Amino acid sequence: MKLIEIGKDIYACLQDDRGFGWSNSGFINRGGGLVVDSFWDLKHTKKMMDLYREKGPQPPKYLVNTHHNGDHTWGNQLFKGSEIIAHRHCVEAMKKDIGPQILKAMIDSDNISDELKWFVNDIRGFDFSGIQITLPDRIIDDNLELDLGGLPCRIIYVGPAHTAGDVIVYLPEDGIIFGGDVLWNSCTPIGWEGTYAKWLHAIDFVISLNPKVIVPGHGNLCGIKETLEVKEYFNHIYNESERFYKAGLSVLEASKQIDLGPYAKWTEPQRLAFNVSRAYSEFDGKPWDAPVDGMALLLMGHALSQYWEKKI
Ligand SMILES: [Zn+2]
Repeated sequence: MKLIEIGKDIYACLQDDRGFGWSNSGFINRGGGLVVDSFWDLKHTKKMMDLYREKGPQPPKYLVNTHHNGDHTWGNQLFKGSEIIAHRHCVEAMKKDIGPQILKAMIDSDNISDELKWFVNDIRGFDFSGIQITLPDRIIDDNLELDLGGLPCRIIYVGPAHTAGDVIVYLPEDGIIFGGDVLWNSCTPIGWEGTYAKWLHAIDFVISLNPKVIVPGHGNLCGIKETLEVKEYFNHIYNESERFYKAGLSVLEASKQIDLGPYAKWTEPQRLAFNVSRAYSEFDGKPWDAPVDGMALLLMGHALSQYWEKKI
């Protein structure tokens, strides 16, 4: 975990991407302070807050949750006294999401199947004990502009893209965007609720802001170039999925046929199965918030890795 100054009084807290849940955060040390996202467990969130405390008071006046996934919200309870801001769809999804005890049981189990090992190995570095899901208390339905000691800070709703309740945090004076999981750098993105069209629209919107620095939800700091790569990835996967859907292939068979090209170097390329499944769901006419069977997709990701290994 490292702290990087990306503007005057503006910081990014980055974690090395080691698979599921190794997310990023941000801190703006103005007007009482604003933190963007907590981490997946208390241990990592405390460490992040200790780094921020060297620069400004913690907990800050505001915490923004960019979306509901646990790797961005399960440290919320440490922000006592902060106003926690999130979109209504984020809060609704937090109420329905799986609990930390399920993940803790997976890590503690000595009977994990081979198919799930890649996921469990990713999350083994987290400690899911003691987490109390702490819901945001300032719910927004669209956009919100805050004045952080004279620094304008825009919280902009861009969902449903990666999830139903995606917001980005934009600092127009510095050209800085905290993108949450709408934006990734060199790691294979996953979407839960939302559509390809809305996600691509969100990416185009980010590019239209012409940011100088982007703090992605996962991966290192980036800019427009890396954001365009994510857009190209999605276009490629969507078009290929459509071709194989029309040919009658299953999600797994289509995933095997798709040539990832340069994106094969991104971390966890087997998440391709999630993205093909998402495209198929759209072709089937399912709604943008149709439930995703994460467990089935993890198994499919494993099968895809096995196929690649044997083929290579
Ligand atoms: Zn995330």
